[in-house]
Amino acid sequence: MRNPIYVTQPSLPELEEFIPFLEQIWKNKVLTNCGPLHQQLESELCDYLGVDYISLFNNGTIALVTALQALNLTEGEVITTPYTFVATAHSIVWNKLTPVFVDIDPNTSNIDPAKVEEAITGKTVAIMPVHCYGIPCDVNALQKIANQHNLKLIYDAAHAFGVKHQGQSLLNYGDASVISFHATKVFNTFEGGAIICHSAEMKQRIDRLKNFGIVDETTIEDISLNGKLSEVHAALGLLQLKSIDKTLLARKNIDEYYREQLEGIEGIACIQRTLAEKDNYAYFPIIITEPYPLSRDELFCELKKQNIFARKYFYPIMTDLEIYKSYQRDMPNAKNLSKRVLCLPMYPTLALNECKFITDLIKDIK
Ligand SMILES: *Cc1c(COP(=O)(O)O)cnc(C)c1O
Repeated sequence: MRNPIYVTQPSLPELEEFIPFLEQIWKNKVLTNCGPLHQQLESELCDYLGVDYISLFNNGTIALVTALQALNLTEGEVITTPYTFVATAHSIVWNKLTPVFVDIDPNTSNIDPAKVEEAITGKTVAIMPVHCYGIPCDVNALQKIANQHNLKLIYDAAHAFGVKHQGQSLLNYGDASVISFHATKVFNTFEGGAIICHSAEMKQRIDRLKNFGIVDETTIEDISLNGKLSEVHAALGLLQLKSIDKTLLARKNIDEYYREQLEGIEGIACIQRTLAEKDNYAYFPIIITEPYPLSRDELFCELKKQNIFARKYFYPIMTDLEIYKSYQRDMPNAKNLSKRVLCLPMYPTLALNECKFITDLIKDIK
């Protein structure tokens, strides 16, 4: 049996290259609390991403929870997408806010602005869309709705590292954007994340919120969490950043190869990624419909038999989970996509002959 191919494999630098960073930390004797490497990573990320203010976190989920707090959202409804990873919805509920799930646009897999507008009530305080698979949301329509109804707009941009849209970083849209540096993401620090915001004042507040609400030795102004990223994680980030362009290029090549190979197979469609002017190729979702001879679940099993571990990403949608069932609404597009989508393996060290093995399998099914 061939070696298993998983949906992703984390990008890692050479271990020897990491040792000098560790030596630096041992010499500094600063392990956390926004030390020198943490500060350096914030500054290098601002430059690389093209954003003004970034605050690093220990993971994307705590960053999402904190972003809502930084915008003073303490009660009311937050409109969001059911077609996402659970952390999006969890961050809303952890803040004692009520998630209102609305349907997606099937062409982009992102929240449908028209559906957002329909769902606004007197209690709505914010919108939390997701740039699913790194594909930009309709940021102009969403900003217009937020302005008209005086709502905060917080993007779960966990998938959107490095994406550029309409002449700037996709992370510059909305009141805040949250990215994740989890092992499975395009850019990883083992675990990690960040909030991107648009003023020094807000960054200062976010930095306080991620450090217990501490102002000085005797003054604590918020009841908040510990969300800080350690120096070891920041060091890995600095090293990863050196090879990020190579990583993104390798992903681009795989994306192009898959598209070429899958073209013309009836019932197999690749999601369109043409919206962004600079893409990160974070995932490779295919959509399986008739007349393809197998259902999504059957194809998933066939691949698994060959030691290929694709992922049903995102399935189930939030409102089909027992814990979010009470928020059920009509969302045919999200349900339909969730039933048909399969993310194929996608990571920079995936070889094109491995991709070919996968696409040949898909092609040869009768
Ligand atoms: C990965 C992910 C998160 C959570 O990020 P962590 O860093 O793992 O906490 C949130 N939202 C989406 C859409 C994600 O894919």
